[in-house]
Amino acid sequence: MSAGQHKLVDASAATARPEQVKGRITNLQRFSIHDGPGIRTTVFFKGCPLSCLWCHNPENISPAPEIVTLETRCIGCGACVQACPEGIAGALDPDQRARCRLCGACVEVCPTGARQWIGREVSAAELIREAAADRVFFEESGGGLTFSGGEPLAQPRFLLACLEEARRSGLQTALDTCGYAPADQLLAAAERAQLILFDIKCMDPERHRRFCGVDNRLIHENLRALDRAGARLWLRIPILPGINDSAEELDAMTELAASLRSLEQISLLPYHRTGAAKFARLGRSFRLRELRPPSAPRLREIADLFQRRGLRTKIGG
Ligand code: SF4
Ligand code: SF4
Repeated sequence: MSAGQHKLVDASAATARPEQVKGRITNLQRFSIHDGPGIRTTVFFKGCPLSCLWCHNPENISPAPEIVTLETRCIGCGACVQACPEGIAGALDPDQRARCRLCGACVEVCPTGARQWIGREVSAAELIREAAADRVFFEESGGGLTFSGGEPLAQPRFLLACLEEARRSGLQTALDTCGYAPADQLLAAAERAQLILFDIKCMDPERHRRFCGVDNRLIHENLRALDRAGARLWLRIPILPGINDSAEELDAMTELAASLRSLEQISLLPYHRTGAAKFARLGRSFRLRELRPPSAPRLREIADLFQRRGLRTKIGG
């Protein structure tokens, strides 16, 4: 997109000192090769307006800090329960966990690091400084930074400050978005990022609401707006057997993809079950126990559907 095409929603994000604009992230994953071109550092923002039942990163759904127990590190010493004013540290029962005051006493006393905070505050300046340490790998591979989550646009001021600071530091950026955000904020971010990784989950609005918690109308309107604005687009489609791989769903997806002028490629992301254990750690129930990853031949078949429409399609990120 051309510079100045869209006004910043919150102009103060562009002018504020990057040390002063803070946001909440859960992870900064270095040497990632699945979130855009080249070697990348992926930053996971905390907070998302969707709540997809299959989410691979459920720790990024709530914008609030959380505490989890990593069972493989727990030695069962009971120090956390003794320190807990509610006596519930480590409990998996949601009713008990609802009593957690997030005081952090259990994290303080845990001798093995099994009790952990999820989510840390960081300024845009700190984050970009940390990411810039891998500049040499970015430059040699054509990589850069990818803002993911969660939904980066759930923290629009922080995201815009990070994009501005990355630009000042000469780092390439990509935005991985579910597309559920005010259009002006999305366009302002797209103006500052070099690539948009746009997630499409279900085409049927009711199905989208049932599995992701919100309707998909705004998402599709935003995708069209990005396309009109000429943003470089990669579509990312999770393949979820029995949820979004019916003939109707795939027809509608290929139709949508074929109608986009700015689309460069499609990534089909096979469902995997790593998120299920994370739901348990967070004390939430995982409702798709029966869901299985798609087979390799089925993935190939789906990729062929897109490729027959002349769309560059890849299995994986
Ligand atoms: S954060 Fe505080 S209230 Fe919550 S489980 Fe830990 S010790 Fe208990
Ligand atoms: S203090 Fe840590 S190691 Fe001990 S029981 Fe609690 S979580 Fe497990």
